[in-house]
Amino acid sequence: MPAGSQRLAADAEAATGPFAEIAPPLSKDAALLESAKCLYCYDAPCTLACPTHIDVPAFIKKIATGNLRGSARVILDANPMGHSCARACPVEVMCEGACVLNDRDEEPIKIALLQRHATDFALEKNLRLFEPGSPNGKRVAIVGAGPAGLSCAQDLRRWGYAVTIFDSRDKPGGLNTYAIAEYKMRPPVALAEAEMVLALGVELRAGVQVGRDVTFASLENTYDAVCVAVGLGHGRTLGIPGESVTGVHDALAFIEHLKMNPYSATPVGSRVVVIGAGNTAIDAATQAKRLGAERVIIVYRRGEDEMPAYHYEYELAKKDGCEFRFFTVPKRIVGDSAVTGIECVRAELGQPNSDGRRSRVEIPGSEHIIECDMVIKALGQLPRSDFAAAAGLRVAEGRIVSTKSNVVVCGDCANGGAEIVNAAAEGKSAAAAIHAMLGPVAKTAGSEP
Ligand SMILES: Cc1cc2nc3c(=O)[nH]c(=O)nc-3n(C[C@H](O)[C@H](O)[C@H](O)COP(=O)(O)OP(=O)(O)OC[C@H]3O[C@@H](n4cnc5c(N)ncnc54)[C@H](O)[C@@H]3O)c2cc1C
Ligand code: SF4
Repeated sequence: MPAGSQRLAADAEAATGPFAEIAPPLSKDAALLESAKCLYCYDAPCTLACPTHIDVPAFIKKIATGNLRGSARVILDANPMGHSCARACPVEVMCEGACVLNDRDEEPIKIALLQRHATDFALEKNLRLFEPGSPNGKRVAIVGAGPAGLSCAQDLRRWGYAVTIFDSRDKPGGLNTYAIAEYKMRPPVALAEAEMVLALGVELRAGVQVGRDVTFASLENTYDAVCVAVGLGHGRTLGIPGESVTGVHDALAFIEHLKMNPYSATPVGSRVVVIGAGNTAIDAATQAKRLGAERVIIVYRRGEDEMPAYHYEYELAKKDGCEFRFFTVPKRIVGDSAVTGIECVRAELGQPNSDGRRSRVEIPGSEHIIECDMVIKALGQLPRSDFAAAAGLRVAEGRIVSTKSNVVVCGDCANGGAEIVNAAAEGKSAAAAIHAMLGPVAKTAGSEP
């Protein structure tokens, strides 16, 4: 079966099965009712809390008056990734967490679902909301077609730049296409969103890895400016014996396989141990459970209150039946030809370090084996140091830093790993920086910085 039809098969499964959306769309009536609850605050805290500062009251008001096109335009002007953000933003700690209705002990406005209502309308109707600016004679190369690169591209095209995006993968969208939990967003949505940006006349050179297929220097020589939006690289390793035994997987590789194939094609163990307690660990655990694992155990070396995952992600994992073992430190993967368990020791909190954080002290004699037939490592991703070195850029504290006046860096590779909405905001800032760098150009369509 060709890859496209395989994916369609998976989408048909997804509509109703364990990967059905956890936040399904609002009906037209429900959206109207919800929009009527907005108080249209002055200096709206939701807008301030959104990294892209979408004018939330403005787009909600347009929904209330039946102007979905106008609503989508407000959203996508501020945030070209408005479709994916509507599905995947951690709204509890962003716009909805800031909604004034929380102070009245009421439910906040369902901002993300309203945002989805408007942006889905634009996608379904294939609306052309923006136009490219008249050509200004300047050319920009963007490395990476993820949320950051695409957001940068949208603004640059609207200001009249010729934009070429290089991406090593076959499809655009970056982690939006390959990594977001399947019950939040499926690849066709991410691809349709990318297509809306590309339709402005952005050239996509897919399957071209900068540093391997073309040199970074050749981009610098050919284009007036280069935007680096390469995201993060490989997952961290544990550095313990047995890590290469069959049955030990990297979380991103596991999730990507699940998202690119029919669900039945992704093997899952019956007892799965996930190592790490960030959002990626939760995504791997919940998706392993939904694929049919009988038990999923999340192992974390520190305590519950220090886990990096958002609270609502933690709650979702518990609701899905995932178990947690805190203060549990992996020491060795057990198994010869395939994994049969993981040996861990228990730990407890010791004295505070110089940074005020209490140290972790392993408890002698607490060694134990957690039996399992699959281990998923979710320890975070490393920066793309090789790419940075080849491009003549610096890496500091896990982030790529530009050392050149014609190169800007944005998104996960610049911030060390955050959310889609941060990548979108930084992509737009990168476009504004390039616009400022390349000097005064003819005034064109689109909202200039
Ligand atoms: C498992 C997982 C789940 C997540 N879930 C959420 C969520 O629910 N909500 C949320 O808001 N955020 C989530 N995120 C974070 C979010 O996906 C990222 O913050 C966002 O995708 C960053 O965008 P980016 O454009 O900076 O990088 P990426 O999305 O990583 O895109 C970078 C692009 O650069 C390309 N590239 C890399 N090197 C080269 C090269 N040398 N040449 C050419 N192309 C190259 C890559 O192929 C890729 O397409 C999640 C992340 C992970 C890992
Ligand atoms: S982009 Fe995300 S944080 Fe911003 S308003 Fe929309 S859902 Fe909220």
